[in-house]
Amino acid sequence: MKIQYKPKRDLLETIIHLEILQGLALTLKKLFSKPITREYPGEMPPVYPGFRGQHALVRDPVSGTSKCIACLRCSQACPARCIRVKYHIDESNGSRIVDNYEIEALRCVYCGYCVEVCPVNAVTMTDIFEYSSTDRQSLHFDKERLLENWDHFTKSDSYERQSYVNPLWRPRGFPKSRLTASSRESVPKNRKIEKQFTGTKLGIKKNNKEAGGYNNLYPTHGEKNAH
Ligand code: SF4
Ligand code: SF4
Repeated sequence: MKIQYKPKRDLLETIIHLEILQGLALTLKKLFSKPITREYPGEMPPVYPGFRGQHALVRDPVSGTSKCIACLRCSQACPARCIRVKYHIDESNGSRIVDNYEIEALRCVYCGYCVEVCPVNAVTMTDIFEYSSTDRQSLHFDKERLLENWDHFTKSDSYERQSYVNPLWRPRGFPKSRLTASSRESVPKNRKIEKQFTGTKLGIKKNNKEAGGYNNLYPTHGEKNAH
């Protein structure tokens, strides 16, 4: 690995404390530019399509309970092993009846795999991100709490029944015909996404890149002396 050093200051730069003046100039410049910070919670940030927030079990409008069929795909796909599904078999027809469905939100890594693999779209990740707690137990969601999360989400402003999709959950290169119904939907063209960040983009300037990119920003002493 090549160690790079900041070029030495010359005598004049040392006397006038050039870095302090540069810092003050930057502060002065920013005083007159538009702030990019938000006054949260008074000003809420926009939530982008594909955001993975609080988990919920989708409430089936027909049966009034969860759509989960206890196939266990989500718990098998979960890399954090934070999903537990308890079920029993209905002797009359052999179907699985979910007794409890638990997600430990504090162990979750919010990868969204559970949502991707669910064949009936029973589990989802909502736009809700404000659910911090000082009590671990309140973030250990059981079936009833996950259904309540869904009810809470459907009453929120961000819920759009027809357009609630998370395009980021689509696995790349996966045949569209094999995706679950909700994943096949696309984000409506008229859905507006507010500009969230209005700061300057950081990057290497073209001429700087041509001259050797970041290596040229802080040449080593040896390189500097060679010029
Ligand atoms: S989002 Fe990922 S880590 Fe969290 S419960 Fe689902 S599969 Fe597990
Ligand atoms: S993948 Fe879906 S249907 Fe299967 S156990 Fe998980 S939530 Fe239930």
